[in-house]
Amino acid sequence: MTSTTNRRSFLAAGAAVAAAPVVAGALASPASADELPDYAPVPPSALGPAVNAQGYFVGRVQKNLYWVTDSTYQAAFLTTKDGVVLFDAPPSIGQNIQRAIDQIAAENGVSNKVTHLVYSHHHADHLGASSLFGKHVTRIGHTENKRLLARDNDPTRPVPDVTFETRRTLHVGGERIELAYHGTNHTPDNIYIHFPDHDTLMLVDVMLPGWVPFDFFNINEDVPGSIAAPAKAMAYPWKHYIGGHIGRLGTRQDMTVYRQYIDDIVAGVKLALVNVDPTPFFVKYGNNAWAAVKEYQAAQVKYASDPVIKKYLGVLAAADVYTATTTFLILESIRLDLGVGSQVHP
Ligand SMILES: [Zn+2]
Repeated sequence: MTSTTNRRSFLAAGAAVAAAPVVAGALASPASADELPDYAPVPPSALGPAVNAQGYFVGRVQKNLYWVTDSTYQAAFLTTKDGVVLFDAPPSIGQNIQRAIDQIAAENGVSNKVTHLVYSHHHADHLGASSLFGKHVTRIGHTENKRLLARDNDPTRPVPDVTFETRRTLHVGGERIELAYHGTNHTPDNIYIHFPDHDTLMLVDVMLPGWVPFDFFNINEDVPGSIAAPAKAMAYPWKHYIGGHIGRLGTRQDMTVYRQYIDDIVAGVKLALVNVDPTPFFVKYGNNAWAAVKEYQAAQVKYASDPVIKKYLGVLAAADVYTATTTFLILESIRLDLGVGSQVHP
């Protein structure tokens, strides 16, 4: 075959690939449960209270501050003499948010009317039930939250009516809530929600009490910003932590364990960048640069994450499920944001 026909057949194959629709999973056979991989059992300390028949649990955080969960997502609300301030509206809890508020309001003889809805950040999995609360609720978020929600143009997540840049104190019905922006972390708009009269901090998608982060370090958009967030959280006075995920509240001890877990990954990655020899990967894969890089980085991730998984099994739930992907994202950040392991050609 000449190089011309090679090139022609390559272009023809490329055109066929571009034209063919991908029908994902349409013909895939369903997985059989007994063929799926096993993972270590979840430590009982990671689990929260059982949900009721409607699929939710609502409980007191402190005084008139409450949290509601479906065991995967969390929202919070503050009852006041002038109505209810709601913090996030995850669609998975959906109509159960108002049911939980109705239950607490009836028990305490206070208003069940949501008057304010504070947005932690723009992600749909935490705000997708916002539109259930209608047009007459005052929505509050960071200025970047408004910009991102305007971009996303999702009718389930109306843009905030009130925005702030760095700090905003909300006074509703005699209650005080301190909102603050301390730079990007999980997203460019994720805020710190402090309840100074309730010993509570709400910071979503950073530390998930009792659990390792979700896949690829919570899909954090800013890895250095996310690694820096726990220290900023700890600078506040609080006893109770609302992390937005899984079925229980957090403590300062949870944050300490989480910081150590991330520190251990960072230390492992720095060692892997020095100690894993790239030579065999480039010898084996020759001109297939991506194959060499993929296998080289997989070896670095394994080097860094294996001891961390071993250390945290039984301490943090799902250490064996997601530590490797979180290590991969932190490896890329240490390489690309911090420049560790970068070599200038002589
Ligand atoms: Zn998020």
